Amino acid sequence: MVNVSILIEGFAREIKEGLEEATSTTTLVQDEGKTIVVDPGTVNPEQLAQMLGRHNLSFQSIDYVFLTHKHIDHCKNIALFPNAKVIDAWGITSGTRLEYKEGFAPTTNTQIIKTPGHSDDGISLAVNTQKGAYLIVGDVFWWRDDEKQKTDKNSLLQHHDPYAADKERLRKSREDILAIADVVVPGHGKSFMVQQ
Ligand SMILES: [Zn+2]
Repeated sequence: MVNVSILIEGFAREIKEGLEEATSTTTLVQDEGKTIVVDPGTVNPEQLAQMLGRHNLSFQSIDYVFLTHKHIDHCKNIALFPNAKVIDAWGITSGTRLEYKEGFAPTTNTQIIKTPGHSDDGISLAVNTQKGAYLIVGDVFWWRDDEKQKTDKNSLLQHHDPYAADKERLRKSREDILAIADVVVPGHGKSFMVQQ
Protein backbone atom coordinates (compact mmCIF):
# COMPACT_ATOMS: atom_id res chain seq x y z
CA MET A 1 0.00 0.00 0.00
CA VAL A 2 1.20 3.49 -0.85
CA ASN A 3 1.04 6.23 1.75
CA VAL A 4 1.45 9.97 1.23
CA SER A 5 1.83 12.01 4.44
CA ILE A 6 2.44 15.71 4.81
CA LEU A 7 5.20 16.08 7.40
CA ILE A 8 5.39 19.87 7.27
CA GLU A 9 2.92 22.16 5.52
CA GLY A 10 4.96 24.74 3.65
CA PHE A 11 4.50 28.46 4.24
CA ALA A 12 5.94 31.68 2.85
CA ARG A 13 5.63 35.17 4.25
CA GLU A 14 7.35 38.51 4.09
CA ILE A 15 8.47 39.79 7.47
CA LYS A 16 9.52 43.17 6.11
CA GLU A 17 11.00 44.42 2.88
CA GLY A 18 14.02 42.30 2.03
CA LEU A 19 13.30 39.68 4.70
CA GLU A 20 11.17 36.61 4.09
CA GLU A 21 10.41 33.48 6.04
CA ALA A 22 9.62 30.24 4.22
CA THR A 23 9.84 26.50 4.21
CA SER A 24 8.56 24.14 1.56
CA THR A 25 5.93 21.51 2.14
CA THR A 26 7.82 18.38 3.18
CA THR A 27 6.09 15.15 2.19
CA LEU A 28 6.73 11.52 3.06
CA VAL A 29 5.93 8.80 0.52
CA GLN A 30 6.02 5.18 1.65
CA ASP A 31 5.76 2.57 -1.06
CA GLU A 32 6.98 -1.01 -1.41
CA GLY A 33 9.03 -0.72 1.78
CA LYS A 34 10.87 2.33 0.40
CA THR A 35 10.72 5.77 1.98
CA ILE A 36 10.92 9.00 0.02
CA VAL A 37 11.07 12.49 1.53
CA VAL A 38 10.10 15.23 -0.91
CA ASP A 39 11.62 18.69 -0.34
CA PRO A 40 13.17 18.58 3.16
CA GLY A 41 12.85 22.38 3.44
CA THR A 42 14.41 24.75 5.92
CA VAL A 43 12.69 23.79 9.19
CA ASN A 44 14.55 23.03 12.38
CA PRO A 45 15.96 19.47 12.07
CA GLU A 46 14.44 18.55 15.45
CA GLN A 47 10.98 19.35 14.14
CA LEU A 48 11.57 17.19 11.08
CA ALA A 49 12.96 14.34 13.20
CA GLN A 50 9.88 14.51 15.39
CA MET A 51 7.55 14.30 12.40
CA LEU A 52 9.47 11.32 10.99
CA GLY A 53 9.32 9.71 14.43
CA ARG A 54 5.52 9.67 14.24
CA HIS A 55 5.93 7.27 11.32
CA ASN A 56 8.60 5.30 13.21
CA LEU A 57 11.24 6.68 10.89
CA SER A 58 14.51 8.54 11.41
CA PHE A 59 16.85 10.48 9.13
CA GLN A 60 18.89 7.26 8.77
CA SER A 61 15.95 5.24 7.49
CA ILE A 62 15.07 7.43 4.51
CA ASP A 63 15.95 5.83 1.17
CA TYR A 64 15.42 8.78 -1.16
CA VAL A 65 15.21 12.54 -0.98
CA PHE A 66 13.33 13.98 -3.93
CA LEU A 67 13.87 17.64 -4.87
CA THR A 68 11.12 19.32 -6.88
CA HIS A 69 13.69 22.05 -7.65
CA LYS A 70 16.73 23.52 -6.01
CA HIS A 71 15.58 26.76 -4.41
CA ILE A 72 16.99 26.96 -0.90
CA ASP A 73 13.61 26.93 0.87
CA HIS A 74 13.11 23.40 -0.53
CA CYS A 75 16.55 21.86 -0.13
CA LYS A 76 18.47 23.38 2.78
CA ASN A 77 17.96 20.24 4.91
CA ILE A 78 19.15 17.83 2.24
CA ALA A 79 22.26 16.73 4.18
CA LEU A 80 20.30 15.41 7.17
CA PHE A 81 19.68 12.06 5.49
CA PRO A 82 22.96 10.11 5.53
CA ASN A 83 21.72 7.05 3.62
CA ALA A 84 19.41 8.70 1.12
CA LYS A 85 19.96 8.91 -2.60
CA VAL A 86 18.95 12.29 -3.93
CA ILE A 87 16.72 12.53 -6.98
CA ASP A 88 16.56 15.78 -8.93
CA ALA A 89 15.91 16.83 -12.53
CA TRP A 90 19.36 15.57 -13.55
CA GLY A 91 19.37 12.12 -12.03
CA ILE A 92 20.33 10.34 -8.83
CA THR A 93 23.11 11.39 -6.51
CA SER A 94 24.53 8.76 -4.19
CA GLY A 95 27.46 9.88 -2.04
CA THR A 96 29.75 11.77 -4.39
CA ARG A 97 28.36 10.16 -7.54
CA LEU A 98 25.75 11.63 -9.84
CA GLU A 99 24.17 9.18 -12.23
CA TYR A 100 22.41 10.91 -15.11
CA LYS A 101 19.07 9.21 -15.26
CA GLU A 102 16.25 11.54 -16.14
CA GLY A 103 12.81 10.52 -14.97
CA PHE A 104 14.03 7.86 -12.54
CA ALA A 105 11.20 6.79 -10.24
CA PRO A 106 12.20 4.80 -7.16
CA THR A 107 9.08 2.62 -6.87
CA THR A 108 6.44 1.28 -9.24
CA ASN A 109 3.66 3.48 -7.87
CA THR A 110 5.64 6.68 -8.37
CA GLN A 111 6.43 8.56 -11.53
CA ILE A 112 8.46 11.68 -12.26
CA ILE A 113 6.99 14.40 -14.40
CA LYS A 114 8.94 17.36 -15.75
CA THR A 115 7.25 20.55 -14.62
CA PRO A 116 9.53 23.50 -15.45
CA GLY A 117 8.47 27.13 -15.36
CA HIS A 118 8.84 28.26 -11.75
CA SER A 119 12.44 27.16 -12.28
CA ASP A 120 14.17 25.37 -15.16
CA ASP A 121 14.83 22.24 -13.11
CA GLY A 122 11.25 21.70 -11.92
CA ILE A 123 10.04 18.11 -11.51
CA SER A 124 7.00 16.68 -9.75
CA LEU A 125 6.39 13.34 -8.12
CA ALA A 126 3.17 11.57 -9.09
CA VAL A 127 2.05 8.92 -6.62
CA ASN A 128 -0.71 6.48 -7.48
CA THR A 129 -2.58 5.74 -4.27
CA GLN A 130 -5.84 3.98 -3.50
CA LYS A 131 -7.31 7.44 -2.96
CA GLY A 132 -6.25 8.62 -6.42
CA ALA A 133 -3.26 10.36 -7.99
CA TYR A 134 -1.29 12.60 -5.64
CA LEU A 135 0.93 15.11 -7.39
CA ILE A 136 3.68 16.62 -5.27
CA VAL A 137 4.57 19.63 -7.35
CA GLY A 138 6.82 22.01 -5.41
CA ASP A 139 6.29 25.57 -6.61
CA VAL A 140 4.24 24.81 -9.70
CA PHE A 141 1.57 25.92 -7.24
CA TRP A 142 2.33 27.91 -4.12
CA TRP A 143 0.79 30.68 -2.05
CA ARG A 144 2.01 33.24 0.42
CA ASP A 145 0.27 33.17 3.80
CA ASP A 146 -1.61 36.39 3.04
CA GLU A 147 -3.01 35.10 -0.28
CA LYS A 148 -6.37 33.37 -0.53
CA GLN A 149 -5.90 29.88 -1.92
CA LYS A 150 -8.38 29.65 -4.80
CA THR A 151 -8.45 26.18 -6.32
CA ASP A 152 -10.87 26.42 -9.23
CA LYS A 153 -9.10 25.61 -12.47
CA ASN A 154 -8.99 29.16 -13.87
CA SER A 155 -7.62 30.67 -10.69
CA LEU A 156 -4.99 27.94 -10.52
CA LEU A 157 -3.84 28.47 -14.10
CA GLN A 158 -3.72 32.25 -13.70
CA HIS A 159 -2.26 32.40 -10.20
CA HIS A 160 0.61 34.88 -10.22
CA ASP A 161 4.07 33.55 -9.41
CA PRO A 162 6.42 36.51 -8.86
CA TYR A 163 9.47 34.23 -9.10
CA ALA A 164 8.52 32.31 -12.24
CA ALA A 165 11.50 31.85 -14.55
CA ASP A 166 9.26 31.17 -17.58
CA LYS A 167 5.56 31.96 -17.32
CA GLU A 168 4.54 30.04 -20.46
CA ARG A 169 6.27 26.85 -19.38
CA LEU A 170 4.78 27.26 -15.94
CA ARG A 171 1.29 27.45 -17.38
CA LYS A 172 1.92 24.32 -19.47
CA SER A 173 3.22 22.50 -16.38
CA ARG A 174 0.15 23.56 -14.43
CA GLU A 175 -2.12 22.24 -17.19
CA ASP A 176 -0.22 18.95 -17.23
CA ILE A 177 -0.60 18.58 -13.48
CA LEU A 178 -4.30 19.45 -13.38
CA ALA A 179 -5.00 16.98 -16.18
CA ILE A 180 -3.80 14.01 -14.15
CA ALA A 181 -4.03 14.93 -10.45
CA ASP A 182 -6.76 14.09 -7.99
CA VAL A 183 -4.88 15.77 -5.15
CA VAL A 184 -2.15 18.39 -5.48
CA VAL A 185 0.48 18.96 -2.78
CA PRO A 186 1.80 22.51 -3.37
CA GLY A 187 5.19 23.94 -2.41
CA HIS A 188 3.66 26.37 0.10
CA GLY A 189 0.02 26.18 1.19
CA LYS A 190 -2.58 23.50 1.73
CA SER A 191 -3.03 20.37 -0.35
CA PHE A 192 -6.16 20.53 -2.45
CA MET A 193 -8.46 18.30 -4.50
CA VAL A 194 -8.60 19.02 -8.21
CA GLN A 195 -12.10 19.96 -9.35
CA GLN A 196 -12.81 18.15 -12.63
ZN1 LIG B 1 9.38 27.58 -2.58
